[in-house]
Amino acid sequence: MIPRLALIGLGLIGSSIAHAAKRGNLVGEIVGYARSPETRATALELGFIDRACDTAADAARDADLVILCTPVGTIEAITREIAPALKQGAIVSDVGSVKASVIAQALPHIPKGVHLVPAHPIAGTEKSGPTSGFATLFDNRWCILTPIPGGDPDAVKKVEDFWRALGSNVDTMTPEHHDRVLAVTSHIPHLIAYTICGTASELETVTGSEVIKYSAAGFRDFTRIAASDPIMWRDVFLHNKDATLEVLGRLTEDIFALQRAIRKGDGEMLHDQFTRTRAIRRGIVEAGQDTDADNFGRYKGKKD
Ligand code: NAP
Repeated sequence: MIPRLALIGLGLIGSSIAHAAKRGNLVGEIVGYARSPETRATALELGFIDRACDTAADAARDADLVILCTPVGTIEAITREIAPALKQGAIVSDVGSVKASVIAQALPHIPKGVHLVPAHPIAGTEKSGPTSGFATLFDNRWCILTPIPGGDPDAVKKVEDFWRALGSNVDTMTPEHHDRVLAVTSHIPHLIAYTICGTASELETVTGSEVIKYSAAGFRDFTRIAASDPIMWRDVFLHNKDATLEVLGRLTEDIFALQRAIRKGDGEMLHDQFTRTRAIRRGIVEAGQDTDADNFGRYKGKKD
């Protein structure tokens, strides 16, 4: 499908794209660049790239598709650097968790005759780095494209076909809508996880090691997402400020309502709220976006 693919950033998402592209025999050659020589050496050693370059521009040179797989705060500098090396007809895409900001950073630097097609795979784990990727990460997950108005439809179609071939389902929406949806489904849940872990770690000085010892009661499920890469998440909040603040405002109101219900002993309100939220979990399982196994399949047969 793609004679030469360039990956800028060789962490969880970059390496998973490479593994999945190789699994499906979708590319002729994969050229890679990451900031540190250690990551480039690991990528070569693991064999998910065919060639490593010392600069992002060298990696992007003559590539048919360049995918930026770095934190969203790096997009402006990288696009500016690779722009002179891009060949006519090349497609530049990305995987950033925020879309309006990525477009604002990248678009001014994209040369005439090169096509920007922003994308965001809704798939990931709490792990990062070049050893964390795997070929099945995108299977049956969604990838959201946020095409540029007036952009080249053939380039959008190529990126869509590529993501389908990597195993994803593909949806299209505006970048602003994407940023609002992801604020609800991803960004604020991460903020809550980071907050509860921070609060608990302060309480730990009071309760000793009990926070860790009894974590299976619920706390540890927050710690999984709170283990995600801090640079990536710092950039997500700096670059999706409006939508995350809006959702955070709504959440704060809802938490105050629950606080009042607890104080007033309003069991009906609490019961109604908890009943509604159970249905959301059922919907996620029915949509094939998570396992129905007890405790997320953690015990493979055994029970808590
Ligand atoms: P990661 O595992 O931490 O990998 C980031 C990669 O980017 C590393 O190879 C790093 O190089 C490289 N990098 C960082 N700054 C750079 C720079 N200035 N120039 C060149 N390379 C640079 O992160 P990830 O989870 O793959 O996330 C990458 C992107 O995917 C982010 O934009 C994130 O928003 C998006 N995303 C993440 C997830 C997720 O669940 N993790 C899901 C969907 C989308 P070194 O190794 O040398 O530091």
